[in-house]
Amino acid sequence: MFSMFERAHLKDSLTYKAIKLLPSFITFKETYNFLQKSQWWSLDKIKAYQLQKLGKLLNHAYENVPYYRRVFDERRLKPKDIQDFSDLQKLPYLTKDIIRENIDDLKARNYPYNKFEYVTTSGTMSGKMKPLGFYYEKGVSRAKEWAFIKTLWDRVGYQFQNKCVMLRGYVGKTSDKSNFFKYSVFGRWLILSPFLMSDENLPIYIDKIRRFKPKYIQAFPSEIYIIAKFMKENDIDPFPSLKALLCGSENLYQWQRKLLNDVFDCRTYSWYGHAEQAVLAGGCEVSSNLHIIPEYGIVELVDSSDKIITSGNELGEIVATGFNNDIMPFIRYRTMDLAKISDIDCECERNHRTITHIEGRLQEMIVTKDKKLISVTAILAAIKRLESFPQLHSLQFIQERVGFLRLKIVKGAGYSKEDENEILSSIDKNFQGSLETEIEYVDHIPTSDSGKHKFLIQKLDIDFNNSNAAFNL
Ligand SMILES: [Zn+2]
Repeated sequence: MFSMFERAHLKDSLTYKAIKLLPSFITFKETYNFLQKSQWWSLDKIKAYQLQKLGKLLNHAYENVPYYRRVFDERRLKPKDIQDFSDLQKLPYLTKDIIRENIDDLKARNYPYNKFEYVTTSGTMSGKMKPLGFYYEKGVSRAKEWAFIKTLWDRVGYQFQNKCVMLRGYVGKTSDKSNFFKYSVFGRWLILSPFLMSDENLPIYIDKIRRFKPKYIQAFPSEIYIIAKFMKENDIDPFPSLKALLCGSENLYQWQRKLLNDVFDCRTYSWYGHAEQAVLAGGCEVSSNLHIIPEYGIVELVDSSDKIITSGNELGEIVATGFNNDIMPFIRYRTMDLAKISDIDCECERNHRTITHIEGRLQEMIVTKDKKLISVTAILAAIKRLESFPQLHSLQFIQERVGFLRLKIVKGAGYSKEDENEILSSIDKNFQGSLETEIEYVDHIPTSDSGKHKFLIQKLDIDFNNSNAAFNL
C-alpha cells in the first residue's frame, strides 16, 4: 500500500503529467476534428486551403528561417512571387545533404529553444541513408501527426481502446534484444520483438498473439511477413479476433500484401509517410491505393531530369512540402521515394490524388551494368513468387558494385542445386545479362538495428536527379 505521502506525491505527479500533456491533447483534438470535415472537401476548397497554407508557410519561412531567407534573396524572390503550385518550381529542392549542412539555419527564429525537439530517422551509417537529424515542435508535431494517423486508421475502424499487437521494431524503451515481449498501455498493447523471430520461436509468437486476441496488428511489413510466411507453410489458422493489419514505415510490396491477406483473412491497411512529416498518404475504406492527404502538405512528382510529371502512370520521385512543422519547414523536400500518381477518382468520393504504387525508396533500387535502376521487387518477382517457394527460407541482396549482386540465402527444407540454378537463370533471363549474381549460403540473416528485415542492402549512393545516367556513384 502507499503511504499518505506517497499517495500525495503520486497524485501530484499524475496531475503534473496531465497538465503537461493537455496542450498536446488539445492540438490533437483540434486537428482531428478539423480533419473529420476537411477530408470530404471539394477540389476547389482543397486547392484554396492548400494555397492559403502555402502562402502562410512561405511568409513564415522568409521572415523567420535564415536558410529560406537566403534561398529567396539569392533568387531575388519574395513569398508573394509564389501564387500557384507551379510557381513552387522557382524554389530549389531541399535535400537530405542540404539539411545536414544547414541544420541551424533551418530552425525558425521565432520559437523559444525549449520548443525544439531533436529527432533522427533510422538509417545505415554509410551512404545517403545515414540517419538524418531535424526538429519537431515539442508537444505539437507529434500530436498533429497522431490526429492525421488516427483519421487514416478510422477507415478500418480503429479505436484507441482496442487491443493491439505491435511488431514495430522495439520492445518498450529498452533495446534489450533478449526481451521477446512486453505489455504496454494498460495491457492493451502486446509488443513483440523482431530480433528473436527464429523458426523455433515463431510458434511461441503465434500462440502469444492468439491468446491475446488482438483486434489490430501494427507492423513493419517485413516483420509481419515473416510470421505470415511461417503460418502459410505450416498451415496455421488465422486469428479470428483480428480486424485489420496496420502496415507502415516500410514499403508494402504487392506480393507481401497478397500473402498477408491470404494468411490473416482480414484487411491489410497501409499508409505512407516519414518521420520528416512532409507527406502522408493512406488507403481508404474501399481502396488500398494511397490517398495523398492534402491538409498535410503539397506533393510534386519529379522525373529523373528534374521535370514535374503531370500525367498519371509515370514514375517519379516524391517531392513534398509539409504544412505541420513550422519550427523547421520542409519545402520541396526530396524524399528519395519513387511512385506513380493517378488522378482516377476513388469510389470513396474523397477528392484526393492517389498513389497507385510506391515503387520503393531509391535505396531499394538495384543498379544494372547498363546503369538502369530496377526495384528489388522486380528481382524477387523474377526469382519466383516467394510465398510459393518454401525451400527458400529467407534471402537478402547486397549490392556493392554496379551490375553485381551478392545474394545471401538461408536454405529451407528441400533446397537443392536445382533451386540454385533456377534462381540464377531467372535473374539472368529477366535482366538479360545486365546483372551478375553470386550466391552465398548463410545460417541466418541479421535484423537491422531498427528491427527491419531488409531484402536489399544497397551500398552504392543512388541519385535519381542525375541527367544522363539516373544515378551517381
Ligand atoms: Zn478512396
